[in-house]
Amino acid sequence: MHFQESEFAQRLQASETLAVATLVADLRKRGKKVIDLGAGEPDFDTPAHIKAAGVAAIQEGKTKYTPNVGTLALREAVCHKIKQETGARYEPKQIVMSNGAKQAIHNAILALCNPGDEVIIPAPYWVSYPEQVKMAGAVARFVVSAEANGFKITAAQLAEALAPKTKLVILNNPGNPTGAVYSRECLTALARLAERHNLVLMSDEIYDQIVYDDAQFVPLATLCNETLCATFSGLSKVYRACGYRVGWVSFSGAVDRSERYMSALDLLAALRLCSNVPGQWAVQTALGGFQSIGKLCAPGGRLYQSRQAVMDGVAQSRFLRLVRPRGAMYAFIGVDTQKLPSFDDEAFAMELLEQQHVLVAPGSSFNTPYRDHFRITTLPDEGRLAEVFQRMEHVLQHSADRPPQLETA
Ligand code: PLP
Repeated sequence: MHFQESEFAQRLQASETLAVATLVADLRKRGKKVIDLGAGEPDFDTPAHIKAAGVAAIQEGKTKYTPNVGTLALREAVCHKIKQETGARYEPKQIVMSNGAKQAIHNAILALCNPGDEVIIPAPYWVSYPEQVKMAGAVARFVVSAEANGFKITAAQLAEALAPKTKLVILNNPGNPTGAVYSRECLTALARLAERHNLVLMSDEIYDQIVYDDAQFVPLATLCNETLCATFSGLSKVYRACGYRVGWVSFSGAVDRSERYMSALDLLAALRLCSNVPGQWAVQTALGGFQSIGKLCAPGGRLYQSRQAVMDGVAQSRFLRLVRPRGAMYAFIGVDTQKLPSFDDEAFAMELLEQQHVLVAPGSSFNTPYRDHFRITTLPDEGRLAEVFQRMEHVLQHSADRPPQLETA
C-alpha cells in the first residue's frame, strides 16, 4: 500500500532552490565544491551577545512554554524598538511572536483570507507568498514591477489590478529578489489606495536595516492609518540568527476594527503552542544596544563590499546588466538578449551549476514573464564573487560562440 500526499499538498510548488538540491548534493558527493549563491542565509556568525542570551536562557531554565503569542517582556521589547525607530506607541497585544517571519506571514494570511479572496503580490517576489496564499484557499494575483522603475510597483499598477474580491496586498521592502527599496512617496500612494479600497496591507520588512548608500527604508506602518497594516520582522537577517526561528508580526492602523481577526491569530498561535523559547529570549538582547548590521552595510563592511563586487562583476561583463540593489542581500541580474538571443534562465542556471559548480536561481522562478534574469545572493566575500563572475562569463561567452540552433519543424 502506498501512502500518497493530499490533493492540497500536490498543489504546493517546491522552490527552485529545493528543486536543484539533489543535483547540488550529488556534485558535493563527487567532491566538487559548489559555490552557493542560491540561499539567502548570512554565512557570518550570529553576534556573540545574541548567542550568549540564547545560551543563558537554556542554562537558566527559561525553556518552559511561553504564552502562545510570546513572552510579554519580549513583546514589550519589540514595542520599544518600534517606538525608538518610528516614534509610534504600540502595545504588546499588537505583537505576535512566531517561529520566524515566515510562520507569522502564514498565520496572518490564514486568519484573514477566505477561499476565493484575491491577494495582490508584486512580482518578482519571495517565492513563499503565493504558496501561503494557496494554503488559505485564496488566489494570488501578480503585478509585475518594471525593471525601468527599479522593480517597484506603482500605485497606478495596483489600481489597475484591483478587483471586487481583492482583500490584501503583500509588499516586501527592502525586496527579495531584487534589492528594491520603496520611496516614501510611492509607499504613501500605495497606502492611500489600499485605504480607499479597504484592503489590508502586509509588509514583509525582514531586511529593514539592510540598506546601502543613500537608500532610506520607510516602514509602511508609519504611513498607514485608515486600514489594517501588518508588518513582519525577525532575527534571521539583520541579526544573522536564522536558525533561532524567531519572527513576529506587529499590527498598526485600524487595530481597533480588527479585534476578531487578531483573536483568530491568537488561536492560530495557540495551535503551535509558542515559538522557540531560547530564541525568544535572545530577541530582547538582539534588539537593544549597538546594531552591527549598520557597519556591515557601510563602505568597508562585508555586505557593502560584496554588493560592490557584484556591481563590479556586472560592469565588467560583456553580457550582464543590473539595477543596483539598494537593500537586502540579493542582485537580480539581467542578460543582454541582443548578444545572446537564445538565452534561457533555467538552462543557464543548470549549465552554470553542472559545468562551473555555481548555484544561482533563474529569474523566472520568481514569476517573471521574461526569462533573461537570474538572482544571486550578495553574501560571499569579494574574492569569491570575482571568481564567480569569471565562471559566469565563461559560460555566457561559450553560448555566444555556439552556432545558432537550426529551427526544427
Ligand atoms: N521574508 C523574506 C523576504 C525572505 O527572503 C525570507 C528568507 O529568505 C524570510 C522572510 C524568512 O524569514 P524567517 O527566517 O524569519 O522565517
